[in-house]
Amino acid sequence: MKRACVVGHPVHHSLSPKLHGYWLKKYGIDGDYGREDIPPDALPDFLSGLKENGFIGCNLTIPHKEAALPLMDHLDDTAKQIGAVNTVLVRDGKLYGYNSDAYGFITHLEKTVPDVSLENVLVIGAGGAARAVIYALKQKQNISTITVMNRTRVRAEKLAADFDGVSVTDWNRAPQASLVINTTSLGMAGQPVLDISLEGLSKDAVVYDLVYHPLKTDLLLAAEKEGLRTVDGLGMLLHQGRLGFRLWFGVDPVVDRVLRQSIEREL
Ligand code: NAP
Repeated sequence: MKRACVVGHPVHHSLSPKLHGYWLKKYGIDGDYGREDIPPDALPDFLSGLKENGFIGCNLTIPHKEAALPLMDHLDDTAKQIGAVNTVLVRDGKLYGYNSDAYGFITHLEKTVPDVSLENVLVIGAGGAARAVIYALKQKQNISTITVMNRTRVRAEKLAADFDGVSVTDWNRAPQASLVINTTSLGMAGQPVLDISLEGLSKDAVVYDLVYHPLKTDLLLAAEKEGLRTVDGLGMLLHQGRLGFRLWFGVDPVVDRVLRQSIEREL
């Protein structure tokens, strides 16, 4: 039996076991996907012992994504550029690190609003998720302007310095963009709301919130009220899981309606 897991601290909230469990059953694969609560100081030993402990790989979540970078034997380009690893494969005794957030982000965007304009994109936030979003956007041919807005401006400036053609604007400026993306944790259950005015956006603008708990954040509700199209964070989570599943279990799984509904019930 092939075994993988999600590694975090805490990790009890992770939806990944449900996601991979659904696919293992759907494709009739003799595999298992669990969760491992590993504190930061135990991460190096846990990762170096993955194979001996019977794992073929794992996902990494908070707070391990950046800390895992130097612990990999090989990093793919995406993980290198984003500066974080969220998917690990053990092959020939070596650890291969990947980042699937960029793929999850762009796939869900293109499936939900295929005609979205990337002429003028505003990214709110400058953490790991913002890096993945900008990395994905930079792969597109039809992208013109990317602007970053972050509470801590210096962090946005660092991000802009790491990616060509990204500029910085002041926190809490009313957005003027064809696509507005919230990559902060604002709006998540238990967190303050992201309080920005959407009134100046054109009617064909799209608002994307990476937060998926709740599924309809106050930002998305406000966007709907303005008649704007919205994209929630759940599809990104589901699509990013495909890379690990393919690497570990050899099948590129489908994100179908039944899967989405079963994960929605867990939120
Ligand atoms: P991170 O690296 O810790 O960055 C957090 C970001 O949120 C920073 O820009 C931070 O601004 C901002 N922030 C936090 N509290 C704030 C507040 N009170 N006021 C203003 N800004 C605040 O975290 P991350 O890994 O980028 O994740 C960010 C969010 O994306 C989380 O909600 C996570 O669940 C979500 N996410 C979703 C997916 C998905 O698949 N849908 C994937 C990855 C992440 P400062 O720099 O000023 O602190």
